[in-house]
Amino acid sequence: MAIGRVAGVDVGGSGVRLRAGSEGDIARVELVDREVDTVIAAVERLLPPGVEALGVAVPGFLDGEVVRASPNFPSWRDVPLAARLRDRLGIPVAIENDATAAALGAHARRGASEDLVLLTLGTGVGGGAVLGGRALRGRTGSAGELGHLFAGGEQPCGCGATGCLETWVSTSGWQRRTGRADLDGRQVVEAAAAGEGWALDLLAQGGQALGRAARTIANFCDPDVLVLAGGLTAARPWLEPHLTEGLSRAAAPMAARIQVVWMGRADGLAIEGAQAAALRLLAQCGDLPA
Ligand SMILES: [Zn+2]
Repeated sequence: MAIGRVAGVDVGGSGVRLRAGSEGDIARVELVDREVDTVIAAVERLLPPGVEALGVAVPGFLDGEVVRASPNFPSWRDVPLAARLRDRLGIPVAIENDATAAALGAHARRGASEDLVLLTLGTGVGGGAVLGGRALRGRTGSAGELGHLFAGGEQPCGCGATGCLETWVSTSGWQRRTGRADLDGRQVVEAAAAGEGWALDLLAQGGQALGRAARTIANFCDPDVLVLAGGLTAARPWLEPHLTEGLSRAAAPMAARIQVVWMGRADGLAIEGAQAAALRLLAQCGDLPA
């Protein structure tokens, strides 16, 4: 299978993860610091021989092949990451924003030519879209910041705005709302399962905000599929009815048609998307049919 020739890397704040081929395990290296050279050395260490192209998912703001800035890597400014990896490794390298890579991964995993929007619910809310077979990147590669769609209210968000979706249905949002800095998603789900009112309220409000955001997404880009992934999808029983209700308020053709897919934690999505980007690069080089 062609994917055997490519590897995908997910660069995170605490470590670098790599998978080569479609069956291989995910290998991981912890980072001793967050400098570019450390990350490049980690990728080099993890890369097995014989890989013909590499895709890399990076958190932060990209402009083409350059990482302009990254909240996880504060010292990075205008880092030409793809070119530096290409020079070091001697193979073609594609880079993607990690949320965009996750959307590409979900698209590849579905194995269909669908228009797809992904929302990842975790510490924050990530998002990405693949429309007409292409990842939505925007002018500067920053498109798809779906966690910061306005979903109502005045609650401050980490991005500096207020009322973002992320303030309603993410661990960081719930911590701010409850004033409990140590609150995690599992505690909220367990409390809701035990019938505790505060958790049921949090999830009902989160679900309603998710429904409002889904309606906006549907009206904006009319996708075939809305995929939900990430740790907080464990709250599906409480979120889903509100999401369905919100989506039913989209304009008529979309409301009846859009399929919602719950993928669970789906940890490897960004790596799979990075591999898909690397495969595309090989195809562009003329090695493979597109
Ligand atoms: Zn925000």
